[in-house]
Amino acid sequence: MNGSLRHPCPECRATGTAWGGKPCPTCEGRCEVHVQPYAIREALKGRGGKPLRATKPDITKAPYGTTFVWRIARFLGGADPSMPVMCYFDIGCHGVQTDEKKKVEDVLWQIAEVLAEQAFGTSSAACEAWLPLLGWNATPRGHEVKS
Ligand SMILES: [Zn+2]
Repeated sequence: MNGSLRHPCPECRATGTAWGGKPCPTCEGRCEVHVQPYAIREALKGRGGKPLRATKPDITKAPYGTTFVWRIARFLGGADPSMPVMCYFDIGCHGVQTDEKKKVEDVLWQIAEVLAEQAFGTSSAACEAWLPLLGWNATPRGHEVKS
């Protein structure tokens, strides 16, 4: 969980270039992204050692994925229940889903789940809010209703 991981860049699919031959904005031409769970968690710490800061970090200064993790953690913890959509642009994972995007999203999502648990005591607030709307019968883990 704390080890850093390199992944093929999800935006350019490890070509390093964007439309028109410009360097890819997500990996800056390096063809890969570097997910650093420890650095992300450090960047997200709030005042007084809180696990999740109240304001969105500066994307230009934070490690790759930090703003995405911040937004997803708030979503999962119930602090911001609107569907996270724009944060996928922050990590180059907007648009059509690919294996590269899925891998990066999964690892960042796991970090966000842990942070949501620590900061809000739950990572299933979003499920409870959204799944019934999607036609699912949502029950928090460990509270399954026996029929
Ligand atoms: Zn790229």
